[in-house]
This record gives sequence, structure tokens and C-alpha cells, in this order.
Amino acid sequence: MQNLKNVARPPSSHKTPPLFVHAEVYRRAAYGQNHPLAIARVETAVDLCAGLGWLKDGFHASPVASREQLTVFHAPDYVEALYQAETTGLTPAAHRRLYNIGTRENPVFPGIFERASTSVGGSVLAANLALEGGIAYHPAGGTHHGQRARASGFCYFNDPVFAILTCLEKGLERIVYVDLDAHHGDGVEDAFFDNERVFTLSVHEAGRWPGTGLLHDRRLGRARNLPVPRHLNDHELDYLMRAAILPLVQAQRPQALVITCGADNLAGDPLSTMALSNGALWQAVTQLAACAPAVVVLGGGGYNPWTLGRAWAGLWAALNGYQVPDLLPPALTDMLKGLTCDLVEADEIRPEWLTTLRDQPNVGPVRAEIRTIAEAVMRKA
Ligand SMILES: [Zn+2]
Repeated sequence: MQNLKNVARPPSSHKTPPLFVHAEVYRRAAYGQNHPLAIARVETAVDLCAGLGWLKDGFHASPVASREQLTVFHAPDYVEALYQAETTGLTPAAHRRLYNIGTRENPVFPGIFERASTSVGGSVLAANLALEGGIAYHPAGGTHHGQRARASGFCYFNDPVFAILTCLEKGLERIVYVDLDAHHGDGVEDAFFDNERVFTLSVHEAGRWPGTGLLHDRRLGRARNLPVPRHLNDHELDYLMRAAILPLVQAQRPQALVITCGADNLAGDPLSTMALSNGALWQAVTQLAACAPAVVVLGGGGYNPWTLGRAWAGLWAALNGYQVPDLLPPALTDMLKGLTCDLVEADEIRPEWLTTLRDQPNVGPVRAEIRTIAEAVMRKA
């Protein structure tokens, strides 16, 4: 594998330097207590980037999507129900059943509507910025399970869908969506499986919730799924990239690419056994980003604030060709020491999660199942 230290900006035809889309709303407490997302996530990445001097240029504030904008994809009654949940703080039993909100999975909390609609506004902005000829990074995006009229898997609205819709509205004919989160990108696949102009591909851990995205499931032919065995290592992702993912993406000759790169595929995440190092994720995303003139890079899941924050900060560095330091400055180590997470025990916190940005590579053999997946997904229908 390449040493990312020596990789400059991705070898692509991007006209403009990468742009970062973010909003301060994500610093507010959300999801209530005892929820896997009630941890410092994207703000950790932002603070690491700021502390390393990587946010001097290209920073854009995310707008809030209007209710009218949201109904371009979501059902008006569902949008209204979520708005009412925020304004009243209540969720009637009928709404819990119908819309799957106000549940343990998708709780109602103060600011829920603003937060969810800001992620949509951010992804629309990121798509518009990328379409000017570059890479737009919106790590607060990636709510890929959201359904048209129903919350699902901690996702209320589906911001990746809106990034793709923005490209469609601009008249693009070939848009590719790649989902590297540990869970199947079901909401995005469902939204576009019958659209000839969109091709979706998801790599996810086999047997995980929501259970969709099986190897031979291509929907009407415009979807591909790579459900990988437990403990996926760096060499296996690299093999899949070269043998299947990059060839499939390049064959589409994408005019725009939307990538969801959840951090729950990294070693140490409590909600999957995928065991990638963050360098493997950075390499995969930079290789993908070189495949299209317009690229939107979104976040996604990730339930370990240390591995997530370091991965998404380093991803911004990789997209820009910035040098990742071997050791973090003491102030950033102190910031990482101050993070908490109920799902990671104190003795599971690895020392390097507090002092470095780059993980040790997780090298290992490429298992036979991995080769089988690549062959199956490349097979002509
Ligand atoms: Zn996930």
C-alpha cells in the first residue's frame, strides 16, 4: 500500500481546492442519554483540523434546508411530524408507529429538526460547491438510512439523497454513490434503484443491521453490494478497491461522485467488527475522489469518538495533501483525553488514540471470501 505521507493532492482534474462544510449546531447535546450518537463526533474532527492549522481556507457554513426543500424527497406529513416533535417536544403514539420517531433508536430531542435539516442543507451546499469542479467535504452528512416517510437507524432525513438530487437537478446523467460505512446504505439505494442516471455501491459488514444489501442484490441493475466478512483488514479493502470498486466506478464515467465514509468500519468501533486503519480509509477515499470532476465526501456512522475524530480529520488532510504529524500537540492530546463514550471501556482506549492521528496499518491476508465477493460483483448480469 502507498504511504500516504508522500501523497500530494489526488491526481485528478479538480479545478478548485477541497472545501469544508460544517455548522456549529452539531456541538449541541443531541439524542439524549444512552444513545450511541450522544458523543462528540464531527466537532472532534473539526477541532483536530483547526488545532493542526488545516482550516484556514475553504470553510463554508452549512445552511438549514427549508421545509419546502425537504419535501423534494421526504413526505410532507413526515416533515411536518418531525417539525412538530421539535416544537412541542412530544411525539404522539401514532407518529411513533408511522414515522419511527420518538423511539429508543430515533429519539426526539431539543433541536432535532434543526439538526436534521442542517445536515440536508449542508449536503445540498456541498453538492453545489463540488459541481463547480472540486471536492466538498461535509463530515456531518451521511445519514444514509433515512427513508422517504420514516426515520431509520438514527437517521431522520437522508442528506446523501439530497446531494444526489442536487446533481440530478443540474442535469447530470452519470452520478455514482459509494458507501463505505459498516452498514448497508439502504436509504440511498432505495431512493435511486430505479433511476438510470444513478449507480449505487455499498461495502458493509455482512449480517449487520439492516440486513439488506446482499451480494447478488443488484435491484434493477444499477446497484452493487459488497457484504464483507467480519474483521475486514486493510489489505482486503485494498484488494476490493483494485479488483472491484474502482473498476466499477470508473466504468460509469461519473460526472459526480457522492461518498459516504462512516467511521464505524475502523478497528475499535463498538458497533461493527470491521478492523480497518484510518490510513486505509483515507487511501480508498482519495482513490475514489480521483474518479470524478465533482466529488462530495460525507461522514456517516461511527461510534468511537477517538477513532472517528482522528479518521475524519486525517481524511481532510488526505484530500488536501497535508502532512499528518507523527505526534499531536499537547493541547489536542488533552482534548482527546477529555472525550467520553459509554460504549468504549476505559481500558479499551488505546494510547495512540490520544497522541497520534494515524493508526497503525492493519495488515493481514486477503481471505478467499474477499476474492469471491470481488468476482461475484464484477460478473456481468
Ligand atoms: Zn454505520
